[in-house]
Amino acid sequence: MNEKYYFECTNCGRKYSADEVQYLCPHCSSKNDKKSPPLGVLKTLYYYKKIKSRYKKHKLFDKLKEKEYLELLPLKSERSLSFLKVGKTPLYEINSPNIFLPAEKNNSR
Ligand SMILES: [Zn+2]
Repeated sequence: MNEKYYFECTNCGRKYSADEVQYLCPHCSSKNDKKSPPLGVLKTLYYYKKIKSRYKKHKLFDKLKEKEYLELLPLKSERSLSFLKVGKTPLYEINSPNIFLPAEKNNSR
């Protein structure tokens, strides 16, 4: 079982484990046709408490930054990452602590 994230259907609210489905809610997507926007799109929700507990001894953001936020990506394997130059987007902390904005102009990977 994946302990980082799970999926929730944006239409019916059903919850699915990450290993159970991929992309669409099976219940809602069975009603899809080619004329309308797709039903059953899944949103990814994280088990933030579990992620945070892995880094008890570290400052959470610094550790996630060091690992390029992989803990926050809905990936089953790092091998599924793109070969394209994406990621390592620098973040800037704004006035309030714990709020960061990505500088999308330069990915350095
Ligand atoms: Zn659904």
